[in-house]
Amino acid sequence: MSAEADSRKIRLLMTLRRAGISDPATLRAIEKTPRDVFVTRGFEDQAYDDRALPIECGQTISQPYIVAMMTEALELHDRAKVLEIGTGSGYQAAILSHIARRVYTIERYRTLMAEAERRFKHLKLTNIVTDVGDGGKGWPAQAPFDRIIVTAAAPGHPEALLDQLRDDGGIMVAPVGAGEVQTLIKYKKDAGEIVETKLTGVRFVPLREGIARGG
Ligand code: SAH
Repeated sequence: MSAEADSRKIRLLMTLRRAGISDPATLRAIEKTPRDVFVTRGFEDQAYDDRALPIECGQTISQPYIVAMMTEALELHDRAKVLEIGTGSGYQAAILSHIARRVYTIERYRTLMAEAERRFKHLKLTNIVTDVGDGGKGWPAQAPFDRIIVTAAAPGHPEALLDQLRDDGGIMVAPVGAGEVQTLIKYKKDAGEIVETKLTGVRFVPLREGIARGG
């Protein structure tokens, strides 16, 4: 990475700290992950701005603050088996891969997944397992998951995913709502009981059913 990108990244980390991100593992993972590799060509100079950017297929790479906040909310540990819905650019999965044991990530656009896989390979992130499919259905063959992160907006509580969350100490973070602004909800499962906490308002692209056609 260039010295220029490096100093931009340091500035981004300062912005995130000021905004209240304090989990050392999350900050370290952001430090280790070159966001410029994950943005669309032509946007590299904005890669370390704290803002969402457009990616292929009309989707977006989330704002770094939201990525950091959701990562922190997951309370990850190095033995965690994590499921991510909505691979997009692969940036969030890359962040998770530095903290968790294994990351399973699902995307409905083949084009996006091909690019994300290329980035994982380039960065030698070998603990990320990918699948092109409808993430709303989760990944039953690999369930249960210690942690689940949904990075596209679900219209209502994602029941199929909650079912695949570990009964004892499982945590899921998901934007929920059908409107342009959704509520980020943290679900905690203990002894099979789910307790939810509303975190903040967010803007995610919608979770859509099925595999994308032509993509
Ligand atoms: N986590 C991504 C950003 C997600 S953008 C990143 O770090 O870049 C949301 C992504 O969710 C989009 O790529 C969209 O195609 C995908 N998506 C929407 N509905 C989906 C579904 N049902 N299954 C899998 N992916 C889905």
